[in-house]
Amino acid sequence: MDYSLDEEQEAFRTEVRRFSGKVLAPHYQSDDKAAEFRRQLALDMAGLGLTGLRIPEEYGGQDATAVIAGLAAEEVGRADFNATYLIINTALISDVIVRNATDEQKAAWLPGIADGTTVPCICITEPGHGTDAASLELKAVPDGEGWRLQGEKTSITLGMAADRAVVLARTGGPGARGVSAFWVDLSHESVSRSAFDDLGSRAIGRASLHFDGTPVTRADLIGNEGDGFVSVMQGFDYSRAIIGLACLGAAQASLDEATQWARDREAFGQPIGRFQGVAFPLAEHATYITGARHVCLEALWKKDNDLEHSAEAAMAKFWAPKLSVDVIHQCLLTLGHLGYSTESPVGQRLRDVIGLGIGDGTAQVSKLVISRDLLGRAYAP
Ligand SMILES: Cc1cc2nc3c(=O)[nH]c(=O)nc-3n(C[C@H](O)[C@H](O)[C@H](O)COP(=O)(O)OP(=O)(O)OC[C@H]3O[C@@H](n4cnc5c(N)ncnc54)[C@H](O)[C@@H]3O)c2cc1C
Repeated sequence: MDYSLDEEQEAFRTEVRRFSGKVLAPHYQSDDKAAEFRRQLALDMAGLGLTGLRIPEEYGGQDATAVIAGLAAEEVGRADFNATYLIINTALISDVIVRNATDEQKAAWLPGIADGTTVPCICITEPGHGTDAASLELKAVPDGEGWRLQGEKTSITLGMAADRAVVLARTGGPGARGVSAFWVDLSHESVSRSAFDDLGSRAIGRASLHFDGTPVTRADLIGNEGDGFVSVMQGFDYSRAIIGLACLGAAQASLDEATQWARDREAFGQPIGRFQGVAFPLAEHATYITGARHVCLEALWKKDNDLEHSAEAAMAKFWAPKLSVDVIHQCLLTLGHLGYSTESPVGQRLRDVIGLGIGDGTAQVSKLVISRDLLGRAYAP
């Protein structure tokens, strides 16, 4: 057994940490205040290959392992948690395209994602169907050789800013097998958008997207008709572990700041770190972060080694966001009144990280996956 990163992974992590500290961190709080997606962010990240991590080199990507994508999310998450959405979205979407699209489609779609000029989003959730996504209703109505999309998607990350979307639409009967995936140009006049006013991740934003007869053809269909739901869900199996590491990066940054504060701040004539009431929560959270990080990395390592990893990814998704919220909250308290001020990034991290306890599936959904793995399919509700 070997717990260390190899030389290449270590060098990559160092490079992403340096880039994130220098290029991303200075914008974390100002982008939140502006509450608008800054396109330069995608271009800056693409400059280091971070939007093309899971894209083959022939299409302009890095052809990186899932573990590398996770390490990138963790390092970026320390500096600018919201920038990790660009890694999470592009990793998930390019994985779906790489596994299912034709060579012609890959050549047309992937280079723009890799170079940051195409910001993609993924449209699954609808006003009436979130967790129960397989019941989605947005219809692909047959029209000549193709279809017209009719219906609403909601709660879509980067929904206001995205250029293209993977849209899950019903082409057949009820259930998962009646759903197909399309690569849709969001600049079409039949697409309208309305923004959410969110608690956190305001620089990324969520939106509702209305499709009013949006034309799509066979050239826009990803994979086979009726395979869309399953292929996107397979992508979630690893994007959930990447999300876990993104959240843990934000938690680790907060823990580092609180640890330094415990050394520097004095009360009752000594550093507050000498009080067990301050030091023990830091020690506990360092332990939990280490444990959760291992779960996330194990899921990604299994993905890289073609081993079943749904349960580990679900453990990562249910545990890491919740743990990170708890850690960040405790760190905010350790920083005292300064932690409560918007001068510190800790409060913003708390607002931002909470969202990924819901996005990409709630903790309950993850626990359904884990319990099905434990008990067997016969015990699934
Ligand atoms: C920050 C953020 C980003 C998002 N980004 C995207 C995106 O890019 N694309 C996209 O398509 N969607 C996105 N979503 C939507 C997200 O995937 C859904 O919100 C999520 O799947 C839950 O659906 P819902 O909100 O409709 O809750 P519901 O499905 O209505 O569930 C409400 C509550 O009931 C619980 N529940 C439901 N069913 C069960 C069950 N069987 N057992 C136990 N508990 C259950 C849920 O866990 C939840 O706590 C995002 C959401 C957030 C907050």
